[in-house]
Amino acid sequence: MKIVLDQDKCVSSGQCVMAAPDVFDQREEDGVAVLLDDSPSADGAEDVEHAAAVCPAVAIRVER
Ligand code: SF4
Repeated sequence: MKIVLDQDKCVSSGQCVMAAPDVFDQREEDGVAVLLDDSPSADGAEDVEHAAAVCPAVAIRVER
């Protein structure tokens, strides 16, 4: 699994961090999401898929 995060689209809502805190964090200065791990193990796949699904800006793409 590979994750692509488009920070230009991110609206700093934080849903991805709540869904998959091992994979996403937010920058302190503006809340824009950052990737902690762009190729997480299969164990976290469900959480990452959920993060991508709930992102209001469609800023997260999951590649398999
Ligand atoms: S859920 Fe989407 S818009 Fe919200 S912080 Fe994460 S990447 Fe940004």
